[in-house]
Amino acid sequence: MEAGTVSSAGCFAPTEPLLQPTRRSEMWCHAMSALPACPECGSEFTYEDGHMCVCPECAHEWAKGADGADDAKAVRDVHGNVLADGDSVTVIKDLKVKGTSSVVKVGTKVRNIRLVDGDHNIDCKVDGIGAMQLKSEYVKKA
Ligand SMILES: [Zn+2]
Repeated sequence: MEAGTVSSAGCFAPTEPLLQPTRRSEMWCHAMSALPACPECGSEFTYEDGHMCVCPECAHEWAKGADGADDAKAVRDVHGNVLADGDSVTVIKDLKVKGTSSVVKVGTKVRNIRLVDGDHNIDCKVDGIGAMQLKSEYVKKA
């Protein structure tokens, strides 16, 4: 019994230094999550290589823009493409219009969107339905 106690204590000591690399890799993950998602595939596992950003999933490389802060606030479609005022988008799923029996069908093209702050971050006019607000995650850039 006593031998067992000694050996477990002996095992314990060498494992202690292993804590350090673990912590460091957590910090590394943290640093990585501050980078913008891949503009090609939307992967969040991007990393920095010099002044380039690299996506490990689709091998896309792009320059880190000086406007990184703005980029984080950018309104993105379901694929991570940045949307802008005046863009045309396509609805990717049937969306019920709140308070009505109308449904914006999947595939509906919406022209000349306007970006707004809020949960529904796209202001637009849908043919046959009228002015409404959409969530950017339910559209893709046309
Ligand atoms: Zn990618």
